[in-house]
Amino acid sequence: TSACLSAIEGADALGAFVHNTPDIATKQAKASDARIKAGDAPAMCGIPLGIKDLFCTKGVPSQAASGILDGFKPEYESTVTSQLFDAGAVMLGKLNMDEFAMGSSNETSVYGNAVNPWRRGNDDTALTPGGSSGGSASAVAADLCLAATGTDTGGSIRQPAAFVGITGLKPTYGRVSRWGIVAFASSLDQAGPMTKDVRDAAIMLQAMCGHDPKDSTSADLPVPDFEAALTGDIKGKTIGIPKEYRMDGMPEEIEKLWADGTTMLKDAGAKIVDISLPHTKYALPAYYVIAPAEASSNLARYDGVRFGHRAQLAQGDGITEMYEKTRAEGFGAEVQRRVMVGTYVLSAGFYDAYYNRARKVRALIKRDFDEVFADGVDAILTPATPSAAFGLGEMADADPIQMYLNDVFTVTVNLAGLPGISVPAGLDKQGLPLGLQLIGRPWEEADLLNTAYALE
Ligand code: GLN
Repeated sequence: TSACLSAIEGADALGAFVHNTPDIATKQAKASDARIKAGDAPAMCGIPLGIKDLFCTKGVPSQAASGILDGFKPEYESTVTSQLFDAGAVMLGKLNMDEFAMGSSNETSVYGNAVNPWRRGNDDTALTPGGSSGGSASAVAADLCLAATGTDTGGSIRQPAAFVGITGLKPTYGRVSRWGIVAFASSLDQAGPMTKDVRDAAIMLQAMCGHDPKDSTSADLPVPDFEAALTGDIKGKTIGIPKEYRMDGMPEEIEKLWADGTTMLKDAGAKIVDISLPHTKYALPAYYVIAPAEASSNLARYDGVRFGHRAQLAQGDGITEMYEKTRAEGFGAEVQRRVMVGTYVLSAGFYDAYYNRARKVRALIKRDFDEVFADGVDAILTPATPSAAFGLGEMADADPIQMYLNDVFTVTVNLAGLPGISVPAGLDKQGLPLGLQLIGRPWEEADLLNTAYALE
């Protein structure tokens, strides 16, 4: 913990931590020391973590990297962080992210962007650590903490993990409680571990997950021993390679990465089969209707009355002006865009054409996966991202659709509620990390982690 705290002090330039909690860390670390001495030490005991700013942490600023939550200190602890702390984990501070987890580059944060510790060849352009869990990715890759919490609505754990060369797991929807995590799109959001390797992901998931009566979508299912599942034996497993993920204009390096990963799994004894997920091409448009729709509803609570920021009002302003001015000042441009898109697709005149249609597409995407799993496929291998990390600012001024394309390989997994993991799989020509994604059957994180372990 002390080593991490001093590393954080020297790493302001990375912009990974937005709020440090050294006093809490020291207190928790001492308590964990005592537990270790007493012989009562679960695996997470004494492990220094960074916590994404989307998690409500009691008495500690929790702003979802938004101006609208300025000064907000929750009165309560999220289920995930409280489970981690009960297991002896230590909180070093809160981590940067895209505002309300909307973005793929950490550039929509009110705190400014986080930076990727990696560089492109000899070029010293600062690169994005990805998003929305960009601070988590940057902090773990730069050894500022041993692991971090992330959340993933459309790829926000897996894409940043791939961009910085770490492991990121999005569990099955319902495996991890969403209680006390600021909501973005409630039917897609899921928290998970961002770690240095697959074993750490297994250990951290164990402490994070389980049934929580405070989240009605949390599953009341037994939790297996994830670490015990890591045998590395995948003989006889069937791995599907979906042809629809072979996109036009896919960089050769990504093709090669994917082929190399396939060979590794085959050499480890897995059976490789070509599969088809025919509705893949509709996933991104469906996601960018459903996620903003849910966000527009979730974000209605930020009205200047109950949380954070309230605009200065002029003489004669009423409650409408208060809402309008507060929300115009407190929300950044991307969040405002999503609220407008979401409100539009839910409006009476367009509900059937957009929102309802997207829901139907979502059901078809889920059915595609159900069918391949029913045919005996155990896991699906794809690239995690369509490219390596890009330069900060390179995409920010482009058409927002360019940014949304980052999620092309990851959003299907959220739409279908499946577990997905991104593992580091090599470097591109310029020396930047690339990741491969494995998608598993629902609730079979143990098996998925073991397949990822074989790929590591
Ligand atoms: N990049 C996607 C978005 O902007 C996903 C974000 C996420 O998973 N939180 O919506």
